[in-house]
Amino acid sequence: MGFNTISSRDFLPCTSSGFVGTPLSEDRALVQALSLIDKAAFTATHQSERDRGQWRYSIIASDLDPRVDPHTHTIYVGSKLINKIGRKVPVTIIDGKHPEAILEQVSGEMRSVLIAGVQYFQAKTSFDEKDNRLAYVVEDLKKQGLMVAFTGIDKWFNGQPTEPTATLMCLAESVNKVYSLCDLCYPRLRNHGTYYWKFEGDTPVDHRSLRTIEPHEHFRALCLEHFIETTNEPQYETLKELTEGYKAITDRVPEFTAFSGPMYGGKSDSMISTVINMSGKLGCEYVFFKPKEDTRTPGKIVTRAGAFPGQQFGGEFDAIEIVNKDPEAGEYLTAEIAQAVIDKYDNKPVIVGFDEPWLLEESSLMRSIMELRLMGHPVIVGTLSSDFAKKGIGSTPAILSAANEVEVRSASCECNNLSNYTQRWVWDKAKKVYTTPSFNAPVVSIEKTKKQMENDVHADIYDTRCLFCLTVNDTPADWS
Ligand SMILES: [Zn+2]
Ligand SMILES: [Zn+2]
Repeated sequence: MGFNTISSRDFLPCTSSGFVGTPLSEDRALVQALSLIDKAAFTATHQSERDRGQWRYSIIASDLDPRVDPHTHTIYVGSKLINKIGRKVPVTIIDGKHPEAILEQVSGEMRSVLIAGVQYFQAKTSFDEKDNRLAYVVEDLKKQGLMVAFTGIDKWFNGQPTEPTATLMCLAESVNKVYSLCDLCYPRLRNHGTYYWKFEGDTPVDHRSLRTIEPHEHFRALCLEHFIETTNEPQYETLKELTEGYKAITDRVPEFTAFSGPMYGGKSDSMISTVINMSGKLGCEYVFFKPKEDTRTPGKIVTRAGAFPGQQFGGEFDAIEIVNKDPEAGEYLTAEIAQAVIDKYDNKPVIVGFDEPWLLEESSLMRSIMELRLMGHPVIVGTLSSDFAKKGIGSTPAILSAANEVEVRSASCECNNLSNYTQRWVWDKAKKVYTTPSFNAPVVSIEKTKKQMENDVHADIYDTRCLFCLTVNDTPADWS
């Protein structure tokens, strides 16, 4: 976590790789993204024995990004802490309110594009509003055969997900979380600073401006515990008393790992084997949860045994079904989850696995995950990344923003390309065939069960497709 190796998957054209973290690690994220592009250029040169100069790439940044110098057309990369001097690299500056302008910068010979500071590509005046046009631009670049790298901040300083970073993570083939260490733990403990807050000297700043930082203020990276202790956001008020919890069983703030991907990519298998491996290593119990809405296998989670190389655990596992709660009425998932965990608790962490948590209401789920971690229990989830229309699905954008680590599990398309998307098929009653869905169809629709198949009910079915083979009807003009 934090110090990542770059995988061969990152070098593939038609893929996007994210390097995301906090403002304190943004700089190192940019160094890592640059290194990905350098290595890809080196590998391409090595394979084709062509001049390295032929691997053309462009670094693109928004005019709203404070690291960009509009006079010299450069972006500042690398702090004095990392390489003693830092450096400036040439950058193409784009009007941040018009991310489509990136497409005009791409020439035929270009092989890859690095988009720095994706949170600065926003037309909306409020950063809380979703504006995902940049995600469609990135998909368009991938379709043109480019390798895309992007860097950005995964959460605002109130802990809420940042767009378009969250949606870009849902559609990426690889996500690397790059964090620095918690400023308040260090050097006693080395928890990762996955959150941050503004300070004036040693005093937390008591206001909520998400965009600006005054000269007398600075950011500090904070672990979950120190974030909850520091923040004055009312939504976290009742969590403050929990922050002593994890210390009873571990020094470290427990992990929160997300496996994401399309259907049939092996995300649930990865989640289950990670939970079981971790429970073996730590010598403690584990418990699985699943949403009640996922009706495919009631009371169980099932791995598609034997379908994936390296799969260690096949078969069925008991899972506690949880139902959506209404946070506006003060109801959270936590009570039933906490009870199930306490039943297995013996002064040790209980490894908590969630299958398909994207179906659960976002604020209730995210709060429950925070509570579990503050009580000392690591959380591992396996979640669908995007819907049939390539939008981040349900709670997944929030999950990927909050996770300490994100592992994307792509599958294989019928054309043998890497597939990262889920294709829905709907029954056409008139023609009596399965056909492709409309962009405007409802997002949630559960896969046909065995019983439905036996009764010949033509419910929606799914498979997985690459970006070239995915088919949706009635798409808007900017969709790619
Ligand atoms: Zn800390
Ligand atoms: Zn394909």
